[in-house]
Parts: sequence; C-alpha cells; structure tokens
Amino acid sequence: MEVPFLDLKAQFPQIREEIEQRFKRIIDNTAFVCGKEAKEFEERFSELHDVTYAVGLSSGTDANHLALLCCDIGDGDEVIVPAFTFIATAEGISHSGAKPVFVDVDEKTFTIDVKKIEGSITSKTKAINPVHLFGQPADMDRINKIAKKHGLLVIEDSAQAHCAEYRGERVGGISKAAAWSFYPGKNLGAWGEAGALTTDDEDIYHKALKLRDHGSEKKYFHDLIGFNYRMSEFQAAVLNVKMKYIEEWTEKRRLNAYRYDQRLKGMDEVVTPLVLDGVRHVYHLYVIRTKERDDLQEYLKEHGIWTGLHYPFPLHLTKAYSHLGYEEGDFPRAEKAADEVLSLPMFAELKEEQIDYVYEKIKDFYKK
Ligand SMILES: *Cc1c(COP(=O)(O)O)cnc(C)c1O
Repeated sequence: MEVPFLDLKAQFPQIREEIEQRFKRIIDNTAFVCGKEAKEFEERFSELHDVTYAVGLSSGTDANHLALLCCDIGDGDEVIVPAFTFIATAEGISHSGAKPVFVDVDEKTFTIDVKKIEGSITSKTKAINPVHLFGQPADMDRINKIAKKHGLLVIEDSAQAHCAEYRGERVGGISKAAAWSFYPGKNLGAWGEAGALTTDDEDIYHKALKLRDHGSEKKYFHDLIGFNYRMSEFQAAVLNVKMKYIEEWTEKRRLNAYRYDQRLKGMDEVVTPLVLDGVRHVYHLYVIRTKERDDLQEYLKEHGIWTGLHYPFPLHLTKAYSHLGYEEGDFPRAEKAADEVLSLPMFAELKEEQIDYVYEKIKDFYKK
C-alpha cells in the first residue's frame, strides 16, 4: 500500500468544477488582483475566525512581516519567538528590523514554553510572537497575561491553525494581529501563494491595507512606503470555494488524529501528540516523537509510507541566525524535538485502512 504524506488531488471531486467556473469568470473580467474574489475572501475569512478584519496578502511570510510592521515594531526592538517553528516566523521579525529573541518550547505541546518568556524580556522587548504549531493553539491566556503585565503586544502566527480554538475562541483574534498562510499544503490551501492578516484593531487594519499596496488605500495617494503584498484573484477564488468545506475537513483531520491516537497510545516507543485542555487542535500535522526517528522514517518509506520532519533544525542553530550567537544546548527541548519528531501522513481524506497500515508498519519496526 502507498500512503502519501498529503494528497491534494483527493479534494478535487468536491471543489474542482466550482473553482474552474470562478477562474473562468476572473479571466473573462480580466480582474486579476485584489478584486471581487479577494473582497469576498476577506469577509468570509474574518467571519470564520470571529475577528473584525481580514486583509488578503500574497503569502504567509509577507503576513508575518506585515503584522510586525502594522504593530509599529522595527529597528532596535526585540520580539520573543519560539526557537522551534518554521523560519518564516522569525524572518518576519528580522525583516521588520527587530531582533528575534528565541525561547524554548514546551516538551509536550511543542508551542512556546510560557515559563521561559519572562526571563527573556528586556527593556527593548516589544512583542511576543507565539506560533500555533502543528495546529494546536499556544497557551494564549498565559501569554496575554504576561504581555499585559509587561506592556507588550502579542502577534499570533496562525499559519498552521485554520479554525483552531483556544478556550472557545478561534485563533487569529486573541491578540493584536495574526498572520495566516494559505500555502497549498496548509489546512486551507490555495493553488499557489497566499496569506492574510487578521485583527480587531481598526488602525492596524488600515495600515495593513496601505502597506500591502504601496502605502496607499486610495490609488496613488501614497501615505507610506509600502510593498506589493496583494492577493491574487485566482488564489482568493480557490480559498472561497475551499472555505465551504474547511469545517468538514477539519473534523476529518481530528477524526484521523483520534484514530492514530487510539492505535499508537499503547506503544512505549512513541509519544503521541498531547492536547491542552480546552483547545481545538486542528492537526495541520500529526507529529509523534521517538528516539529512533531516522530509522523509523526510513523503514516506513521502504513500505510506501511518506512522512515529514517538522522541523529537523531549531532556528537558533540555523546558519541564517548564527549571527545572534546562540549555541547548542541553549534550548534543549527545541533541540530534542528537532531530533525526535516525525510527521505521519495527515489529510482529511486519509482512509482508516491507511491509518491501520501505518500503525502496523510502526509496530513491525519496533518488533525487529
Ligand atoms: C507556512 C508557514 C509560514 C509561511 O507561510 P508561506 O505562505 O509559506 O509564506 C509561516 N509560519 C508558519 C508557522 C508556517 O507554517
């Protein structure tokens, strides 16, 4: 049996025809950027996450960058960010001119270790940038409490957490601003690059509208030196069609995760994902940990099962961030996670037989 890590074609029967119809309309109208589709996307996406405003952007990385700029963060500032995340979170901080200050992650949830945040706050700290990693919200109550105590802003990286909830609230609206990605492999994925910023703050909303389009909300009235971070109509059209199914797909991911949990939780050799109380984990990735990670990955591959590593290196040990002077041993739990994590196949249409097969092969591996 072959078990792909992700099968985007499995969604086609539900969505392809309607997307093609919308594409045809875009072509007929020759309105390719930030038009009707993007407007519809912004309205529906903000509604989906119970947040006042959404701004369609060109990618999640741009959204990370813009969220920082819209919060007036830049040169000389410091922003606290987990050492274990995709590099785009830190790149957004660096490109704003601020300095990322890495903090270790919680061993069980892989999200920022809230106990470590206060020790990293200095007179230059402006914000905390937690990541809802793998689809599980960071511990937002405690993060917001620390931020309030020290007068800091909180910016969520929600790129992996479409429709995730923290104590009854959807992510993306439990902080000053949130960055979203719609990279094709994300839970809500475009057919190319796309991103968004969400916020309840009117000033941030208007600043984001300006910065994404050369500093102007009104054509040729350039109030700021901005960027071209606009959303493509084709991508907005894909997202508008897919948004109808995102709740159904999210529930299917959660069911698949439950099925993995049921099978794997009796095994001593693997640790299954821990979910915080009161949280809706949306399983962008189903990540187990095991000491024999590399050998297990190889064994599964030999049996047609495709897995992933998210992520094999913590950010403080990348060449890109070597100038910050961190060393091996600085964030032991991020480093251990990088050595032990393995992402199993996960997508809505994954079949129970496939999950059974993955489980059988993991069992066989440890029997040897
Ligand atoms: C995917 C991702 C991004 C970047 O999004 P792109 O759309 O690929 O630019 C940022 N942060 C996290 C945590 C991500 O997973």
